[in-house]
Amino acid sequence: MSFGKLKSARKAKEFHSYVKPDGSSLSDAEGLTASLNTAPASDSTEQIEQLAGSGANTEPDQMQHTSAHPAQTPRTDEVPYGSLAEESQEVQPDLKPAPSTVPGKAPDGPVQRNAETTTPVPLNDCHISLPASLQIRESSRHGRGIYTNTALQAGTVVMSIVPHVSVLSTSYLDQHCSACAASATESGLKRCPKCKTVYYCDKACQDRDWAWHKHECSALQTWAASAPSPDVMIPSDAVRCLGRILWGSQKEGPDSTWAREIRMMQSNRASVHSSSVEDHTYLAHSLVRYLGVRAPADLQPFSLSSASDLVDLISRFTTNTFTLTSASLSPIGICVAPTVAFANHSCSPNAVIVFPRAQGTPASKEPSLNLVALRDIAPGKEVRISYVDTTLPKDLRQKELTEVYNFTCQCKLCTKPPTVDPRESLWCPKKCGGTCPLPTEEDNLFRCTKCGAGVTNVDAVLDAARIGQEALDKATSLQFRGELSLRSKGYNATQLTTNIIPILVSTGLTPSAHPLLAMTRLHQELLIASLPTSLSQESLDEVIRTAAKYNAGLQPILPKGHPIRAIALAELGKLLAVDEPASLASPAQASMFPPSGPPRLKLAYESLVRAHEELLVGFGKANGGGHVGRDVRDAIARLEKEIGVWTSGIKNALEDSVLAQRAG
Ligand SMILES: [Zn+2]
Ligand SMILES: [Zn+2]
Ligand SMILES: [Zn+2]
Ligand SMILES: [Zn+2]
Repeated sequence: MSFGKLKSARKAKEFHSYVKPDGSSLSDAEGLTASLNTAPASDSTEQIEQLAGSGANTEPDQMQHTSAHPAQTPRTDEVPYGSLAEESQEVQPDLKPAPSTVPGKAPDGPVQRNAETTTPVPLNDCHISLPASLQIRESSRHGRGIYTNTALQAGTVVMSIVPHVSVLSTSYLDQHCSACAASATESGLKRCPKCKTVYYCDKACQDRDWAWHKHECSALQTWAASAPSPDVMIPSDAVRCLGRILWGSQKEGPDSTWAREIRMMQSNRASVHSSSVEDHTYLAHSLVRYLGVRAPADLQPFSLSSASDLVDLISRFTTNTFTLTSASLSPIGICVAPTVAFANHSCSPNAVIVFPRAQGTPASKEPSLNLVALRDIAPGKEVRISYVDTTLPKDLRQKELTEVYNFTCQCKLCTKPPTVDPRESLWCPKKCGGTCPLPTEEDNLFRCTKCGAGVTNVDAVLDAARIGQEALDKATSLQFRGELSLRSKGYNATQLTTNIIPILVSTGLTPSAHPLLAMTRLHQELLIASLPTSLSQESLDEVIRTAAKYNAGLQPILPKGHPIRAIALAELGKLLAVDEPASLASPAQASMFPPSGPPRLKLAYESLVRAHEELLVGFGKANGGGHVGRDVRDAIARLEKEIGVWTSGIKNALEDSVLAQRAG
């Protein structure tokens, strides 16, 4: 999961907490406007001027010229990694020389022309949390990255660190601890009596956070006092995160390892995408208001010598932020972890970032960010994560990578996609069981790869995909917008998913195809949210069917053990294990899905066992698959007992009949 993904969600969710696009709450930021105008000339003068001017009112297309600046360090993704089997078939002249610390791996052959070379990046006593098994190397093709010195098995926890800074998204502030990010237990969370904004598990968490929250607490109070309307009482997570970075640098000192690690993070400021300039502008204006900065001199305590430094920090922040997720992958906030931020992107990554909340991790070490190997990774290879949702089709992935991270992905999935990418696929129009690529406006002469039948309903498919995407955006924003009338909004979103999914299915989209997969996931989420109030056999079975379709859609596009897949399977298993409100097993329904009675329990058991195997990979073997892994293991144990009772019941019945036969 990425900042970008969260960013799009946040656009709907808490965009209102940025400075208003109409500039109505910009008055406080005039100090910055002046300071930005007087910022020293630099390679990004134009950009600063944009930030300084009527930035919030400027149309994005007026900012296009920023793209004329070449990226200082373009991060293109030249080295795709598939599975080990794929790698051995591919010619990869790159990654030579191998890290010199690997015995027997020193380059001995002639140096190839244009071959990618990598050199160790001097860390200058920073990043001591980087394990000895890893190295930061600079590639001649795609900048800095994380490389392994040793063979890593799928499910290995490659790195486990506490981020420099993590903050909760506004709507989760009262649901998770602001220190350790744990979710509220039955005893509830305790609110900070001063700002009345952040919550903690207990006094210990509050005390630990105070060094960070001290400045934040008064800034939050000042912000709230001058808020123009009730819906902007709390600054966005991005603003609060940047605030913590600046107060942290102040606390630790500008020459501290902590502050230097933040400064080592890559900035793409010289080539910020036009669509991001606006976001950066909101951020800059909100941040100075939050910090109470009124003149350039006020930036001094934060070790920022000019507004230009501030622009730089924001750029660095935007490209290097990770989404903070719950143990079950719900995005709950954002965090900054400079050591892990060295990891490069691939749409087919060999590693993932998760927050497993493993048993035994003390609250002081939470949130614990884990980099976990998703596949076996050979010594000398680069460890890559995905910055974007890899269930999305190529054009949407590329769009986000360009806009937020400013590079064009050249991974195998992007450059040599399969003939039919399940993310963009239709069932064969002749229903032979084969699939065809999804038609596009430009190219609509597609045929089934199995029987050759041509797609005939091109216009209908294009329309459905467009309507589906619009509905998805709408439903997502309805789901997220405001807490005031959540129930009615949620109801509307469910109406939307309920109505659109059959249209997408009827035009022939496969369960993996976008936007059907995303719609199915959202539908499942909405249905689960409404279950407690309306638990009936029908509503439960409907969620189970939706969860099964979502799982079926994920299988072809995510590798086994991917945390998203593992969680989806665990959810299906848990839903199947819920006590049926009114089991209606009758001959007519025997073949229906989901089954009822013992077959349902068996299916629940099998799903959970598979989920547990995958959770051990996605959330790390050493973590026991994290909190969800533990939960699923307990559920398996309960089911074993329950099934045992059934089985012994059947056994007894059989024995009875055998005895009856003998007697007869
Ligand atoms: Zn806590
Ligand atoms: Zn407070
Ligand atoms: Zn890619
Ligand atoms: Zn066919």
